[in-house]
This record gives sequence, C-alpha cells and structure tokens, in this order.
Amino acid sequence: MPTSAAAAAREILTGLHDVMARRGSAQAKLDHVVDIIAEALQSEVCSIYLLRDNSLELFATHGLRKEAVHVTRLSMGQGLVGTIAAEGRILNLAEASSHPAFVYRPETGEESFHSFAGVPIIRRESAIGVLAVQHAEPRRYEDVEIEALQTVAMVLAELIAGARLTDGAQRGGSRDRGMVRLAGLKLVAGMAKGTAVFHQPRVVVEHTVAEDTELERARVYAAFRRMREQIENMTREAEFGTAGEHQEILETYKMFAYDEGWSRRINEAIDSGLTAEAAIERVQQRTRARMQEIDDPLLKERMHDLEDLSNRLMRIVSGRLGTAAQTGLNRDAVLIARNLGPAELLEYDRRRLRAVVLEEGSLTAHMTIVARAMGVPVIGRVHDIRHIANEGDTILVDGDQGSLVVRPTGQTTAAFDSRMAMSQKRRAEFAAIRPFPPITKDGRRCELMVNAGLAEDAATLEIAGADGIGLFRTEFQFLISATLPGRESQQRLYKQVLDAAGDKPVVFRTVDIGGDKALPYLADEEKDESENPAMGWRALRLSLSRSTLMKAQARALIEAADRRVLRVMFPMVSEPWEYEEARALFEDQLEWARTNRKPLPSRVEFGAMLEVPSLAEMLDCILPRLDFLSIGTNDLTQFLFAADRADPRLAVRYDWLSPAILRFLRRVAREATAAHVPVRVCGEMGGRPLEAMALIGLGIENFSITPAAVGPVKAMIRSLDASAIRARMEQLLAKPPRDMRKALTDWARKQGVVIG
Ligand code: PEP
Ligand code: MG
Repeated sequence: MPTSAAAAAREILTGLHDVMARRGSAQAKLDHVVDIIAEALQSEVCSIYLLRDNSLELFATHGLRKEAVHVTRLSMGQGLVGTIAAEGRILNLAEASSHPAFVYRPETGEESFHSFAGVPIIRRESAIGVLAVQHAEPRRYEDVEIEALQTVAMVLAELIAGARLTDGAQRGGSRDRGMVRLAGLKLVAGMAKGTAVFHQPRVVVEHTVAEDTELERARVYAAFRRMREQIENMTREAEFGTAGEHQEILETYKMFAYDEGWSRRINEAIDSGLTAEAAIERVQQRTRARMQEIDDPLLKERMHDLEDLSNRLMRIVSGRLGTAAQTGLNRDAVLIARNLGPAELLEYDRRRLRAVVLEEGSLTAHMTIVARAMGVPVIGRVHDIRHIANEGDTILVDGDQGSLVVRPTGQTTAAFDSRMAMSQKRRAEFAAIRPFPPITKDGRRCELMVNAGLAEDAATLEIAGADGIGLFRTEFQFLISATLPGRESQQRLYKQVLDAAGDKPVVFRTVDIGGDKALPYLADEEKDESENPAMGWRALRLSLSRSTLMKAQARALIEAADRRVLRVMFPMVSEPWEYEEARALFEDQLEWARTNRKPLPSRVEFGAMLEVPSLAEMLDCILPRLDFLSIGTNDLTQFLFAADRADPRLAVRYDWLSPAILRFLRRVAREATAAHVPVRVCGEMGGRPLEAMALIGLGIENFSITPAAVGPVKAMIRSLDASAIRARMEQLLAKPPRDMRKALTDWARKQGVVIG
C-alpha cells in the first residue's frame, strides 16, 4: 500500500487514465477499473454499484462472485451500499456484519470478508453509485486509503456519466429528494410557482484527470490569488453593500481564503492526478461529509461560508464567473441566493422571474423595494435554502404567508394552485375597487399615489386606480446602467414617465445613490468606504458634492417637463441649508433654460424628504420654503431606532407601529399641517393597510405606496371612519399599550375596517 493518499490515488489514476483513453465498452472499462483499484490498494474485493432504475446494481467486481454482477441490487437506503448512497457518506467498518444496516446477499459470496469501506460516487452533488472495497481480515481502512477511494470515485463519476450508465439526471442520494416545507420572513407578498435557479450557479466538473499536474497547480495558485484579491476588495470597498454581503461573512471568507490547510488539501488532490476543478470539488466533498457530522450550528454556518468560497474558487478557476442573470432565465424561475443587491436583481428578466428566496434579506433593503416594484414575491431568512434545494427543483412560494415548499407532491401543488387562484381572486376584487376614490366613510378624501422607478413602470403604469406617482426613484436608472446615464437618456426616461402619467402628478426624487445602492462605475473618491454607508456619503450629500451630476439631472427634468408641472424632491435632507443649496442649483438651471430659450415647466414644486430625524427639529425653518413634505419611513425608522435597514438580524426587531415612531410622525404631521404644507408618507409603511390606518389616525392622509398595495389600502380607507381612528390614536398614544399592533388590529376588527 503506498504511503500517501496522493501516491495511492496517482497510481490508480494513471491506470484509469489509460483505461478511459482506450476503446471498448463501458462495462469492459469498469471491469478493468475494479482490478486496478484492488491491486493498488491491495484489496481482496473492489466493487462498483451504480444507480439504475432507482436501485443500486452491482456493476463490476473484483473478488466477489461474477454471477452476482447485474443480479445483486439494493434499494436506496438498503444495506451498507444503499446507506452510503442515500446519505452521501463514507462507511469504514472493521466488521461489516455488525453494522445495523448490513444485509447479507449470498449470491456475492461475501461471507468470507469482514472489513468493508465504501464511498459514494457523486455527480452534480448527488450519489449515482458506490465504490466499495472489502477484506477478509477485520480492520478499519486507513485515512489515506479512504481518500484515495474518494479521488477515484470522482474520476469514476466522469466515466460513468460519459457512458450514461446510470439514471443520470435523476438525482437520488446525498441530498434530500423529498418534499420540504420551509418558513421565512415575508418580504414581498404574492404567490408564485417556478423552477429553482441559483443566482450563482454551481460549476459541474467535466474533466477530472489532469493531463499536466504542474499546469493544474498553477491554475489553482492563480485562482487563489484572484479570490483573495476579490475578498480584500470586497472588504476594503463598500461594494458589499451592493452584493449584499456583510462584514462578518467577509471576515470569515478572509479567514478561509488564507487558510493553509484548505489550499494544501487542494494541492494534494492535484498531486494525486486530478484537475484543478476536480481537486476543489474533491476537498469540498470532504467538507460536506464533515458538515454532516457537526452539530454545532455556528460551526455549521462557518462550513457553509467555506462552501461558498469553494464555489467562488471553482467559478474563478473554470472561468465561469457569471450569475444566472447572464445566462438568462429560460423558464419560470424562483431565484435562490444568499443575498442580492438591487442592481443584481434588476439584471433578471422580469417576465421569467417569478419569486426570490434568500437566506438573508430584510424588509426595507433596496433590493426588497425593487422586487416589490417588479411585483416579484420575496421570502427572506430561509435558513440553508441553498443546500436544501437543488437547481431545477420545483418550488412553491407563498409570499403572503412567508413560506415555501421545495419539491412539492402533486397533492400539495394542487392545494397551492387553488390558494393561488383565491389570492388572484382577492386581487381581482381589489382591482374592482380601483376606479373608486380613496374616501373614508366620513368623507375624507385621502391621496393614494404609487412609488415607481423602472422604465417599464412608465409604459405599463396602471395608475388608473392611483392619484399619480408620489415617489419616482430616479436612481434605479443609474443602478441598472453599466455607466453613468447621460442627460439625454435621463430626459428620455422622465418624459416617458410624464407622458404615461398624463394629467396625474409625478414627484421625481433626485438620485439617492450610495448606501446599499452603490454604483460600481462611480469614481473611487465617491465610493463610500465607511463601515456604515447608509449614514455615509449618499443621496443629497453626494449629489451636492458632485454638482455636475445634479445639474445634468436638473436640466433633464426641466426639459422633460416641457410646459407641464415639474415636482422635485430631495432625499436625505438633514439640515435646511442642504435643501436650499439643492433648490438654488435647480433654480440656476431654470434660469439658464429661460435665457437659452429651452423648454420650461409651467411651474416647479419643490419638496424635501424627511428621513433624517434632525430635520424634524428644523421644521419651522424649512416648512415655509416647501411646497410639500414627504416622509421616508424606511430610512427614518432606521435612524430613529439606530437599526440598519439591511441587517437581517434586525429585520423583525422594530415595529413601524411602535409608539416612538407614531409619536414622532404625529409631531411632524401637526407642524406641517399647521404650516399648510401637504405631508405625505412615501416609505413602505404606508403600503400596509394597518399601518396606513394608524397614519390616518395621526392626520396623515396622503400616501405614495407600492402599486400592489393600492387595492388593499384603498379597501381599508373606504371602510374606515377617519375621525374614529383619530380619537383612538390619541388615546393609544397618551398611554401606549405594550403591543400597539395588537391594539390597533383589535380595534380595526371591531370597527369592521378591512385590513386584509
Ligand atoms: C424611505 O427611506 O422611506 C424612502 C422612501 O426612500 P428609499 O426607500 O428609496 O431610501
Ligand atoms: Mg430613503
């Protein structure tokens, strides 16, 4: 027996390489292969079992009776071989018959052999067969022997797949094939059915045996270097804001990227004769096997990080760097990812993207807002989804409940379909009230506008049921573009939106980039390298410093308005002077347009967003200068609670219906109303019927919400008595109950208010 796994495997691989290169039937090759392995490992028995018609068939053997070949069969989970395949794990036993799963097959003549070791033969992360060795002498196999077997099993997988000897695409084995129900965090409502697509597809290893070991070593070395650079960059720059990665994960990535043990094991696998890809996969399989034995959840989490990194290394080495968006979706897809940035989501084809399932994610992260705008249901915080689901599995997503089913049975699908039909019916009922105005029972006319931001919104904008666009997020165009959009293309988009809106008002918000909306093409000095980009160099702060960008946008808006009313608002105003400076810049551009006889708006209305709490202290100074005030509750909440809106751990912690938020909003609403400045809420809060009811109770009756929420919020308004909720809110805020949400829900139910 050779002394190292590499030497043992290398000896076998050299033999295997010759066999694979030779002509002949696959059967003849496998017969030859078992002889080579048995000889190299000095093993009395070597057998290959392959998955055919859902059972594991003895396909070739050295040492067992030849009559048993194609006769002995074990179903998945049956016997030692079935256990290895079903659980995707290794068995190494000094006394095979003492294992509880052992079954005796007399036709094989195996009674004289005591020790047994078997490894799964894995293809596309599922077992397609088993490679086993046996000895008469009762002894456990050494680690080097097991590792050699694993390496050989990888090469066999290639040979077997190439010869189409197994069930192939039918994956039985290491991963659970049955139906799994999972729960997560409701991020975007809606129901959908589709096929699992991984945002970062896994690379399937095609060639396992290396032609030139030195070359493979150099490839892995270069890939490691590139991966380390990438991680350094991700940590250094604020790019992880877009990629959705968090500091903690990056730290773990870094630790593994420099882990000597990991790179050494890959190099050893290369030494044994594998290609770089096969070596990475080989080490990854070993990690997965270990993962199954670990109980500590934290350690398990870290192993997932290593697996992520291993996938990254694999993509680098194989040159397959693209995401599923680049490959394109060719059927209805449920996209699966650890996390996604808004720009990454926008790269997908909206017609095919049915839903998104994330391991992380939070309610007010911009990616969630973009998904809501796209009408794509999203469930976040689904633990381990990337390991539970396989690419191509059917997935049923219930964004209304925050649950999903992977690989549903026919019965579950039928029940889901009927619920989906009901939900569509409910939607149709909401659609039916679209033409009616949002008037409360006691006759108060509320204003329901929609949030938009995509070019497609302009063309398909169904604002028949809404009063206009209350928040047009102009930065979305910047996010989907590979380079900074020029003035002409901005102007084209704004004109398109105004044309589509017709007589209804559109409020354009100047670009709010930075934070979790980082633009890769921005100059380095404009990138936010702070640890907390949401509080950093973003929105108006960035726009004022890059006045050319702001000027171009002002010109584009002014010219697009062309004899119509132009409504502009500025994001993240923290102090009145910022608003004044931004407004002055617009007024300069208006003056320039007037002097140069360019098309002019009939009137310009200026507004500020209140999303930084400091502005609330300065309302007396700024209100006289405003045509309207728009409250961005997404950012406002994160700043009031000091809780990062993109942090998944905080996603369920703070409630919009907390007395702190409600009292704060009441104060702002009172001051604005006293100054006769219209006040509107344009954060996600207003799109939820119960929250919108509470806002009406505070005197806020104007909303700009996600289009899908117009029906439910309108139904709520039409069933509400505004003066009654005002009185109730006064009572509740005077002496807040422990659970404000419950108190409001109870009240709404009693009053017959439709809150969904
Ligand atoms: C907000 O912060 O509430 C808001 C509407 O702006 P955005 O979500 O785009 O930051
Ligand atoms: Mg905001």
